[in-house]
Amino acid sequence: MTTTNPNLNQLFTSDTFADMIKNKLIKTVENYQVSNPQKEIYMMAWGDTTYPIPSKVVEALVDAATKLGHQSTYTGYGEFDGNIKLREAICHNYYKPRGINLKPEEIFVSDGAQSGTFGIQELFGLDNVIALQDPIYPPYLEANLLAGRNNIIYLECNDKNNFVPDIPQSKVDVIYLCFPNNPTGGVATKEQLKAFVDYARSYKSVIIFDAVYSAFITDPNIPKSIYEIEGATECAIEVGSFSKTAGFSGLRLGWSVVPVDLTIKRTVAGELTEMFRISQSIRFWGASNLAQQGGIAVLSEECQQECQEIVNYYLENARILKEGLEAFGLTCFGGTNNPYIWVKGAEGMSSWDVFNQLLFKAGIVGVPGSLFGSSGEGFLRLSTLGRREDMEKASCILMGFAAR
Ligand code: PLP
Repeated sequence: MTTTNPNLNQLFTSDTFADMIKNKLIKTVENYQVSNPQKEIYMMAWGDTTYPIPSKVVEALVDAATKLGHQSTYTGYGEFDGNIKLREAICHNYYKPRGINLKPEEIFVSDGAQSGTFGIQELFGLDNVIALQDPIYPPYLEANLLAGRNNIIYLECNDKNNFVPDIPQSKVDVIYLCFPNNPTGGVATKEQLKAFVDYARSYKSVIIFDAVYSAFITDPNIPKSIYEIEGATECAIEVGSFSKTAGFSGLRLGWSVVPVDLTIKRTVAGELTEMFRISQSIRFWGASNLAQQGGIAVLSEECQQECQEIVNYYLENARILKEGLEAFGLTCFGGTNNPYIWVKGAEGMSSWDVFNQLLFKAGIVGVPGSLFGSSGEGFLRLSTLGRREDMEKASCILMGFAAR
């Protein structure tokens, strides 16, 4: 008789992130809209993008699609670890300008950072102790639970530590770090990341660094990559993405870096890189060749300006919305160097209270911080990856309350 995967079963409890979104958040918004049909809803819950793909990248995509339609230029399966030109462009145009020297063999192209982070945990044993930031982007936890890892500790992120946790007090094996952070909007300084790198090197632990929002960093003192920290190639894997900076959330493209220098217990240099290559070849036959041509264009000199305009657009969205929220009397974190605003409710308010307050007063929908972990209680996450018009209208409504 066929049985279900018990690890998957435990993700089907009634208080998971997905379940709370579907059965509580969306239902509350729908009910509110039915009772208030004249009220406009400003959906700022999702981390999805709205700004179109840069025109020069679209040209490259059209060209690549056209080539697929001709016998002489048609291409089928590519290398499963990614088009070599794309991997070279990631090394030379993304990492090199930051003083980071990586080889194309250390880059693994994926259909986005989501699959990248999921795939990485396959490198590690089920008995490893995993450290996660709390609050956390849920897929890191879910990927480990699904694999059957239950030895998990949480590193608290709150307004007192600026949403950058202290290094673990005991020995952990794998540490997930996400900076700029989703959901808290926090960023980590060089010194803070160095403390984690030093910790990981001394315990032979591995850091999985999610740098999906790196392009939002405008402060030159904040590292965009963990590899800006000396020694990080010995202890860190990094994931990157084209989703937020080039509008690829639907097109799908990202990468993981598994450096040759990275070693853990009983492995030698290069062994983990090779292990990841093998696991990727089993799991994944390569990203779409069309998306990869788009990625090459994104990283080209000509497209840098247009991609920067996308980031600037979202950062300006964040500035506009934050102004309204603060005028309304709310304390806000993030929204600079990061497209997320982490709103703190007034003393004694739960995350769902803040959610209801903004929905019922201004039609603004965020995600209650408690859904990202217990340290998120009392906060609400707002995404500014939406349209400018919505940010302006929502901010204006909030300011209207302040003027009363
Ligand atoms: N990591 C973080 C922190 C994210 O917020 C997201 C998407 O919102 C992802 C990874 C997934 O990105 P991708 O679209 O590249 O799969």
